[in-house]
Amino acid sequence: MSKLQELYASMGISSTVYEYGIKILEKLEERFQKIDQTAEYNQLKVIRAMQEAKVSEACLLGTTGYGYNDLGRDTLEQVYAKVFHTEDALVRPQITCGTHALALALMSNLRPGDELLSPVGKPYDTLEEVIGIRPSRGSLAEYGITYRQVDLHPDGSFDFENIRKAINDRTRLVTIQRSKGYQTRPTLSVERIGELIAFVKEIKPDVICMVDNCYGEFVEEREPSDVGADMVVGSLIKNPGGGLAPIGGYIAGTRECVENAACRLTSPGLAKEVGASLGVLKDFYQGFFLAPTVTAAALKGAIFAANLYQPLGFAVVPDSTETRHDIIQAITFGNPEAVIAFCQGIQSGAPVDSHVTPEPWDMPGYDSQVIMAAGAFVSGSSIELSADGPIKPPYAVYFQGGLTWPHAKSGILRSLQALLDKSLVTEQSLITQL
Ligand SMILES: *Cc1c(COP(=O)(O)O)cnc(C)c1O
Repeated sequence: MSKLQELYASMGISSTVYEYGIKILEKLEERFQKIDQTAEYNQLKVIRAMQEAKVSEACLLGTTGYGYNDLGRDTLEQVYAKVFHTEDALVRPQITCGTHALALALMSNLRPGDELLSPVGKPYDTLEEVIGIRPSRGSLAEYGITYRQVDLHPDGSFDFENIRKAINDRTRLVTIQRSKGYQTRPTLSVERIGELIAFVKEIKPDVICMVDNCYGEFVEEREPSDVGADMVVGSLIKNPGGGLAPIGGYIAGTRECVENAACRLTSPGLAKEVGASLGVLKDFYQGFFLAPTVTAAALKGAIFAANLYQPLGFAVVPDSTETRHDIIQAITFGNPEAVIAFCQGIQSGAPVDSHVTPEPWDMPGYDSQVIMAAGAFVSGSSIELSADGPIKPPYAVYFQGGLTWPHAKSGILRSLQALLDKSLVTEQSLITQL
């Protein structure tokens, strides 16, 4: 037994699981090389932006109070704008999470009487209450903003005919979710997002195209803002925070869209001029600097998991060979016990809270119980190795993250071991693959 395998064994990974993992990895070398190339490209993009914006040591310090003339905050927003190739950006700890960033982008750019269109089906669960699909206090619906949705075709392609019909005089903003979220539809590539935006703009050139970019940042060499999106929006406790940002969200886009968002976040008249950065800037900068390689680690983990679970007979989306456009891996287990065991396995492999056992709970914003495995340095951070499973059919887990590839790998092996220990997977099914 190698020293590595001994260490794994001491942490509860059986030799069957360990060897099965090695077997799977042998096939993935070439794909991992491609991921490293993308990471290199994106790393340079970030470094160049930081150099062009003249990030200095002074930028890493924060302000308090009103936060007037916050050099670090204003420079960081320039860095984001340069990386996303947008006119401006809003990157703030006052944006509390991804849902807040998206709500802010929507509420600030829509006015009563306007209509919002999602041409890619139902948006992420938490946005249902923002939009008012599920009635909720303060929703867009309460402000007289209507919503229309065109579902994807069953094969995942755009329903261009019905999108054309859905666009009308009142359509002001089109929201496009890049990642599958809690669905099993395919994630959209930047290329496909570009095609959709071009189609929409041809029908109505002045419509605002917003992309929910959560989990998509740095997965490809281009971002949706490179293919016509007026706004890209995301969370700093996902990819762009690089695991270090302790809070925050961003909106990068046209000057007009970002100004609207700033006026709503702070106040009309104050806009981007206020909003103290407190002590978070060093982590925002360093996290953004690390984000391309952290995203690469998470991507490797997702691909490893797909390749590990697919041969065992579980449906995986994306499948073991598909190209990747976000860091989420869905694995459909078909029963709640396996969802729970998987999440408990991930948790047991964490650096923090490995000794606690996650259980399903009623999480705010979701319409069923959800079990979450985290064990993260930043609470709820899903760029760190984490898994969420809504306790409802088809009993799928959505797994993502891993700040480093070795942690992603070991956590995934733990998940498989947990299924094996609970007899939800048989040892024989692994051995036949060796
Ligand atoms: C995570 C996520 C959100 C919401 O972000 P939170 O930080 O959890 O509020 C929205 N859309 C997508 C696609 C996401 O993955």
